[in-house]
Amino acid sequence: MTDTSFYEQLKQFGDVKLNESLAKHTTFKIGGPAKFFIIVRKTEKLVELLNYLMAEGVDYLVLSGGSNLLISDEGYDGLVIKIATNDAPKMIPKGKGFDIEIDAGVVLGMVVNLAAKNSLAGMDWAVGVPGNFGGAIRGNAGAMGKDISSVTQWVDIWRDGEVLRIKPEDCKFAYRDTAFKHNKDIILRACIYLEPGDKQKIMENMQTYLKQRKHTPFPSAGSFFKNLKIDKWPGDKKELPELFLQRGTVPVGWVTEQLGLRGLSSGGAKISDEHGNYVINYRNATQADVLTLVEEIKQRVYNKFGVELDPEVQIIK
Ligand SMILES: Cc1cc2nc3c(=O)[nH]c(=O)nc-3n(C[C@H](O)[C@H](O)[C@H](O)COP(=O)(O)OP(=O)(O)OC[C@H]3O[C@@H](n4cnc5c(N)ncnc54)[C@H](O)[C@@H]3O)c2cc1C
Repeated sequence: MTDTSFYEQLKQFGDVKLNESLAKHTTFKIGGPAKFFIIVRKTEKLVELLNYLMAEGVDYLVLSGGSNLLISDEGYDGLVIKIATNDAPKMIPKGKGFDIEIDAGVVLGMVVNLAAKNSLAGMDWAVGVPGNFGGAIRGNAGAMGKDISSVTQWVDIWRDGEVLRIKPEDCKFAYRDTAFKHNKDIILRACIYLEPGDKQKIMENMQTYLKQRKHTPFPSAGSFFKNLKIDKWPGDKKELPELFLQRGTVPVGWVTEQLGLRGLSSGGAKISDEHGNYVINYRNATQADVLTLVEEIKQRVYNKFGVELDPEVQIIK
């Protein structure tokens, strides 16, 4: 198939662009051009596109909100699919609360607002977490000691030409980890269950959580590394702050602060002055700048504490 006929075929599934800068589609603002780039807005079209690509044997890269990605400056010499499927969430009364069915491309903040507007508790922790709902399911996004797995009822996925409904236990939810991080399933939509809470309390929680979140004016992908599980911490746990013990993790931001690493830089990449686990693009950083800095951080942390840091951000080389 020629590039021209592939381009023409793609148009039936969404908006297609050629040589689209991926920096424009990631919160890190890093990433070269995608040879083909398609924005898909309807789940049915996404399924048709995935079936078509499978039949043609075409590989692809998926992104949605682009808030957990570090993409190569060379870009992607193939097709990038931006999942922007965002029909209005369906609220279905169940027991005391509601099942809410949400497309993968719905902005997570919209889900938080929908819950708050309807006085439903269970999503307040997600206030201020960027990205889209499917990305949150894939990474088991969380904050303030809570995560999306606690409210998830089922997940609809595309797998090898089939659409399947997966139960939470088969999603293998763990701290910032799921089965979807280790396979090629595409998340189409998922259902969460929320029960009514006290509206005042929900609003107060959201305000408190927003205040607790660290802000940086520079582009980033949020926390670069996964926080460390408390049982992996080699030092004396009694010396750790009570909050870490309650949440069961040692924040990497705290670890790098113990080493005085805030402000450490490589080229245009730097550890944020506001948050010791945010690597920021403060001056036209390249992927190589970020990766050099990340290696330096890993090495220094390993030398001091003997622990290996594991990136939370998806690195596409
Ligand atoms: C300032 C800032 C703060 C952040 N704070 C938090 C936080 O508190 N907690 C937290 O958990 N995260 C946080 N993050 C990270 C990020 O917001 C989450 O990981 C988010 O859930 C990613 O969603 P996304 O749509 O942006 O995914 P993307 O970045 O678009 O994609 C991430 C990965 O998921 C894959 N993917 C995306 N959609 C799908 C799909 N539908 N099916 C299959 N695979 C898919 C992509 O291929 C990619 O590998 C933060 C990021 C930033 C920039």
